Amino acid sequence: MSNVDWQGKHVTVAGLGVSGIPAARVLHGLGAVVTVVNDGDDERSRAQAAELEARGITVRLGDGDTLPASTELVVTAPGWKPGKPLFAAAADAGVPVWGDVELAWRLRGLDGRQPAPWLAVTGTNGKTTTVRMLASILEAAGLRTAAVGNIGVSLLDAVAGEQTYDVLAVELSSYQLHWAPSLRAHSAAVLNLAPDHLDWHGSMEAYAADKGRIYEGSRVACVYNAADPATEDLVREADVEEGCRAIGFTLATPGPSQLGVVDGILVDRAFVANRQKQAQELAEVADVNPPAPHNIANALAAAALARAFGVEPAAVRDGLRNFRPDPHRIEHVADVDRVAYVDDSKATNTHAAEASLAAYDSIVWIAGGLAKGATFDELVTGCAKRLRGVVLMGADRALIREALARHAPEVPVVDLDRTDTGAMSEAVREAARLARPGDTVLMAPACASMDMFVNYNKRGEAFADAVRARAAESA
Ligand code: ADP
Repeated sequence: MSNVDWQGKHVTVAGLGVSGIPAARVLHGLGAVVTVVNDGDDERSRAQAAELEARGITVRLGDGDTLPASTELVVTAPGWKPGKPLFAAAADAGVPVWGDVELAWRLRGLDGRQPAPWLAVTGTNGKTTTVRMLASILEAAGLRTAAVGNIGVSLLDAVAGEQTYDVLAVELSSYQLHWAPSLRAHSAAVLNLAPDHLDWHGSMEAYAADKGRIYEGSRVACVYNAADPATEDLVREADVEEGCRAIGFTLATPGPSQLGVVDGILVDRAFVANRQKQAQELAEVADVNPPAPHNIANALAAAALARAFGVEPAAVRDGLRNFRPDPHRIEHVADVDRVAYVDDSKATNTHAAEASLAAYDSIVWIAGGLAKGATFDELVTGCAKRLRGVVLMGADRALIREALARHAPEVPVVDLDRTDTGAMSEAVREAARLARPGDTVLMAPACASMDMFVNYNKRGEAFADAVRARAAESA
């Protein structure tokens, strides 16, 4: 189906939503006969359905399980679980299933334009940051580019819209990769692998296998994390194009075919004429924003992909300097009474929180929320020595309290027995009481936010508001 004649083709789009609506519109515009099926039948989906129906698209609400007769292709929202009956029906009928990424990949170059190559990034944590850094580097090199995928411009717009690009920086989730069998990146990176979304994938092996698909068919470089051997295993297992190289990134001195750090300098020992003897300086650690260890790793991964695409060292440095992190990702809110207040509300799992806790020497940690089945022993053991104190809140705070009692019994803990939104002001007040000059109050909850807040953005804003109120009081 690579050169599909869409005219009159019967396509079922599974799921109204961020990917389904644009997919339905684009396919209808190409002449396909589109039917959208959706599980939900609420007010919002009815309004969306009415808009699509006005264009001549059929929408079936309240039944996402039945495959419409005469379907020749299913295009699914990435979040739909592979076990859904719709997919079994498609398999029985010999109908292929594509995700939104697969559709975008297949629609490249449809209007005769030269398709832009994809530099693709996945991983459990750091995807958005790395893709944004990469886009910033590519821009600094004078290339027409965009950060696309789960962020910024939608993939379908990037391939089927008006704008033309030289290269795309693409963020891909494990769900999207699951449904994108023919995607072939110019170069691809897996940043790290920790258990996440296992309820969807069924097992860690299945999750890793879906992440590993990003390397399949890569042409120039497969970028892996030298500190996370599972990512290197995925490179080894991938079937890539002849001549495609495995490139590692490391926070230590790089070996040949690696990027790494030497005396505060980010260096490249991969894309140089003689990698046995030569290293190319790219940027200083101080150019990375913020220069926390995990974020330096993100910068190295972004630099590796950019260098694989032929970007000059000076553009790597300029792109990293121009980069500003998105809100709620290790965001410095204010200094109050010589204590720094940092918002890492996006640390919604233990792997992310571990990274930000590793970035500070003496911490008052604000944590808790919805644990999503996680355990906290490893996280607490790793940071116990650097904890001045801990303030706990949220539904699953007992799990963290118990881990602290086991591994850091000497650390003072304040347990806020409330889950209302106002609890954040009290958390900040208690954290300020525990902190000493020079400390960092770090809100990196290691948990999802939905027990107390609409989302992690709102949780971060509540923290920042509380900190600013304190700053105003102390001024
Ligand atoms: P994603 O798009 O994968 O969710 P983000 O860049 O939005 O990643 O960062 C999510 C969270 O993960 C942030 O809280 C951040 O502190 C943490 N994080 C970012 N990069 C890494 C990394 N390389 N390793 C571990 N944690 C990270």
